[in-house]
Amino acid sequence: METKRLSQQDIQTAADLLRAGGLVGIPTETVYGLGANGLDPAAVGRIFQAKGRPQDNPLILHIPGADWLERYCRDIPAAAYELARRFWPGPLTMVLRRRDNVPDQVTAGLDTVGMRCPAHPLCRAVIQAADVPVAAPSGNTSGRPSPTTAAHMLEDMDGRIDAILDGGPCSVGVESTIVDLTCTPPRLLRPGGITLEQLRAALGEVAVDPAVTRLMGAGERPRAPGMKYRHYAPKAPVTVVTGAPERSAAYIAAHAGPGDGVICFEEFLPMYAGGARPVMSLGPAGDKGEQARRVFDALRAFDHTAVSAIWAQCPDSGGIGLAVTNRLNKAAGFHIVEA
Ligand code: AMP
Ligand code: MG
Repeated sequence: METKRLSQQDIQTAADLLRAGGLVGIPTETVYGLGANGLDPAAVGRIFQAKGRPQDNPLILHIPGADWLERYCRDIPAAAYELARRFWPGPLTMVLRRRDNVPDQVTAGLDTVGMRCPAHPLCRAVIQAADVPVAAPSGNTSGRPSPTTAAHMLEDMDGRIDAILDGGPCSVGVESTIVDLTCTPPRLLRPGGITLEQLRAALGEVAVDPAVTRLMGAGERPRAPGMKYRHYAPKAPVTVVTGAPERSAAYIAAHAGPGDGVICFEEFLPMYAGGARPVMSLGPAGDKGEQARRVFDALRAFDHTAVSAIWAQCPDSGGIGLAVTNRLNKAAGFHIVEA
C-alpha cells in the first residue's frame, strides 16, 4: 500500500482513516505511535502484522481525558484520578482493570488495560476528531528502537500503514512511564517521562518491577508479557558502560575496537574524534532530558553504518535517567560493565 504523508491540515483525514479501520502513524510527545481504532479488533490486529509484534504483547489505549476512563475501565482507584490530575495530558500510562468492551486484541487477553492521555496537540486533535480510543504501540518494527521522527517511523513502516501524520520531533523521546494501579503498592513497569520520584511524591510507596533494572531469568514470569522481549536493539550488539562519565569514557576509549561505534556524552566527543569510528552524542552529561530525546536516534543511527559493536555511556538513574539507562540496558540485552 502507499503510505500517505499527512500534516497538520489533515487531522480530519487521519481521523477518518482511523474510523475506517486504517493504520495511522501518529506523533505523540513520547515517540511516534502506530494507531488504530481501539474498539475495532480487525484494525488492532493489523497493528501486530505491520510491526511483526508478538500477539501476547498488549497495546495502550489513548484517550482525550480522564473522563473516558470509566468507559473502558472498572474498579478505578482514587490514585488513578490523582495521577491524571497531576500528569495528564502527559507521558504516563496507567494499568487498570478493563471492561468487556475493550477487545482482547488490545489487552493480549489480560484483564487489565493500559490507558494514556497524550499531550501532543496533533495527537489530541486526531483522537478527538476520531472520537474513539486509539490503540497504539510505538511505531517501530518489533524489537527495533522506537521512532522519534516521522522519517524514522517511515524507515520501518513505509508501505505497511495507510498514512503518517508528521508532527515534528518528539519532545520527550522515550515511551511513556507505565504504572500498574491494580496492585498494592502501585508498581512501575516501565520508566519514562514521568519519573519514579514524581510518582512517589503523588502516591507514596511505589514498587519497581525487577524487569526495569535487570534481565529476567529463564523461567521467571514477567508481570506484563511485553517485558519479556528484547527491545530497542540496533543491529550491532551494545555494551553499556556505567560509572562516572570520565571513567566510562576512558574505559570505552581503551576497549573499543577501531571500527566500533560509540555513544557518548557531548563533552567526550573529542576523545573519539578523528578516526573512522562512528560516534553519536547523547547530549551533555548533565542534561538527562536531552539524553532521553536522543537515545533512540543514537541507537538507530548505527544501522546505517558497518559497525560490528556499539559502546555506550549512560547517566545515573535519578529522574529521567532511569528511563535512559533502561532503554540502553535493554538495547544491550543488559550487557553492562562497570568502569
Ligand atoms: P509499546 O508497544 O512500545 O508502546 O509498549 C506498550 C507497552 O505497554 C508494552 O511494554 C506493554 O507490555 C505495556 N502494556 C500495555 N498494556 C498493558 C497491561 N495491561 N499490563 C501491563 N503492561 C501493559
Ligand atoms: Mg515499543
